[in-house]
Amino acid sequence: MSSTRAVTIRDCAIGGPELVVMAGPCAVESREQIFRTAEVVSASGARFLRGGAFKVRTAPTAFQGLGWDGWKLLREAADAFSLLTVSEILNEEQIEGARRYVDFAQIGSRNMQNIPLLRALGRSGLPVMLKRGFGCTIDEWVHAAEYVLGEGNPDVVMCERGIRTFETATRFTLDVAAVPIAKQRLGLPVIVDPSHAAGRLDWVESLTLSGVACGADGLLVETHPDPAKALSDGPQAVPLAEFPALMEKARRVAHAVGRTIPAGARLEAAAC
Ligand code: PEP
Ligand code: MN
Repeated sequence: MSSTRAVTIRDCAIGGPELVVMAGPCAVESREQIFRTAEVVSASGARFLRGGAFKVRTAPTAFQGLGWDGWKLLREAADAFSLLTVSEILNEEQIEGARRYVDFAQIGSRNMQNIPLLRALGRSGLPVMLKRGFGCTIDEWVHAAEYVLGEGNPDVVMCERGIRTFETATRFTLDVAAVPIAKQRLGLPVIVDPSHAAGRLDWVESLTLSGVACGADGLLVETHPDPAKALSDGPQAVPLAEFPALMEKARRVAHAVGRTIPAGARLEAAAC
């Protein structure tokens, strides 16, 4: 087994014994939605609240996110429940302003080979989550990470989120082998996003558990209080009411492979 160098974001080490759960909606949509989500994911053991504010959608007519207002809401909700934030940064111009709102900068699948963005986030020193391009090999993904590392930023976490194959039953094909391979190649933590790989709620649980079983250092899971009304990626969102049970199953698998997922935080903050 190769050793992984943990990436520490504030008080949270990714790549240590704890399997770090990051959860929330695809996109921040409203104060009520993000606060309710923060409350439940925090109570289920998550350490990060996810939520896109600037979305990269396949169609220009689709919901593009709340922008800066979305980031403000994400920060407020995360702070209210002692969570950290993870959100996608689309371009170099957003980096300075993002520092107040985003603890962990996500580079999306479609931007994995945006070399100026990789370099700029490398220079920024912000911890980076590098999603794998859905049409990219592990080798290309590793080289993308080297662009960030090469600017002197050691805080890179890789995220396997599924690749495009001939299979159409799932939205993408989760490449579980990429987890140990990327870990061995870079010595960096690797997390798994079961949501974008599955594309449908039906397969999210199995992919979550397989990610944990194959050694992922964390999970990035989409969850929504009312998936039928979600403005983006509703079909793959775990209903918030089902999220605690999913985490309980993930906790059991984590235990079987020598990792832990902490028990949820107390519900001390008032929901909005
Ligand atoms: C997301 O996390 O909501 C997202 C857009 O992911 P990806 O870049 O993997 O498609
Ligand atoms: Mn999404």
